Amino acid sequence: MMQPPLSLYAASSSPSMNRAIAIIGKEELSILPNNYEQEVVIVGGGVAGAFLAKILQDHAHITLIDPKEYFEIPWACLRAMVEPAVAERIVVNHRDYFKKGDLVTSSAVTITETEVFTEDGTQVPYDYLVIATGHTEPVPKTRDERINQFKEENEKIKSAKSILIVGGGPTGVELAGEIAVDFPEKKSKNVEVKLEQSVDLNSVSEGRKPLSSAWLRETLLKDDLDGDGRIKVDENLRVKGRNNIFAIGDITDFQKSSKECLHRVRLKWLQRI
Ligand SMILES: Cc1cc2nc3c(=O)[nH]c(=O)nc-3n(C[C@H](O)[C@H](O)[C@H](O)COP(=O)(O)OP(=O)(O)OC[C@H]3O[C@@H](n4cnc5c(N)ncnc54)[C@H](O)[C@@H]3O)c2cc1C
Repeated sequence: MMQPPLSLYAASSSPSMNRAIAIIGKEELSILPNNYEQEVVIVGGGVAGAFLAKILQDHAHITLIDPKEYFEIPWACLRAMVEPAVAERIVVNHRDYFKKGDLVTSSAVTITETEVFTEDGTQVPYDYLVIATGHTEPVPKTRDERINQFKEENEKIKSAKSILIVGGGPTGVELAGEIAVDFPEKKSKNVEVKLEQSVDLNSVSEGRKPLSSAWLRETLLKDDLDGDGRIKVDENLRVKGRNNIFAIGDITDFQKSSKECLHRVRLKWLQRI
């Protein structure tokens, strides 16, 4: 049995987590008959989609579509780079928490009124569709490959004489802190903060991952995307004007947050994973 990923309860007040739970908090489950004849397709196995799949698998037949075989906890990834043992706990195969439904390991490429089509040619019919594709970046397909990637990053950090972190946003600052904690000798040798500087980022990777909604631009939802590529939803997380299509997580334009919802999502992760 896999150890619970403890860092889940350290989640800060992410609106996406609130959004994920909102669909349950608002008792949207009541729209789903409590039987397995209804096909609910969740596209995206990140924080929001994985959580929803875990909860809904006891209420309906779920198909989870994600290009990778695992869920990972994004906010623990920087720690996993400096302490690879953490990766073993934060990268969880979808099948370890999602045992009842179908898993399609491929990217969704388009949708119709009744089906989702994936890159590997799978056609998945749905009664209810939930889009949870959040952000995207190229990551390996299997858990072992992902864990090895963290080990490789760790080797690079260990062997580096100096490390340049470009960007003083939350990710850059957090990574600098993680490295300083685990490699104090690097810190004591040379820590330099250059203020009021900028670099040409064309050849440098961005800390912020791009939203994954480009695949919807030629679909029936093309007019439901805002200028940033977020899906416009109503207060019940339904795509406006559609009864059976929902969106949750960072992919939505939903901005509400509630401490109560966050508290509940933390508890649910703790109790169930
Ligand atoms: C370094 C870092 C630190 C963070 N720290 C915190 C924190 O401390 N607290 C906090 O609450 N939040 C934090 N966040 C933000 C948090 O991770 C996001 O808000 C959250 O991951 C959003 O969840 P999501 O499910 O909407 O999207 P994601 O978690 O981005 O998941 C999207 C999923 O969709 C899949 N996908 C993408 N495109 C497709 C497609 N076409 N077909 C099928 N699947 C697809 C992806 O593979 C992925 O599994 C942090 C993020 C980062 C990167």
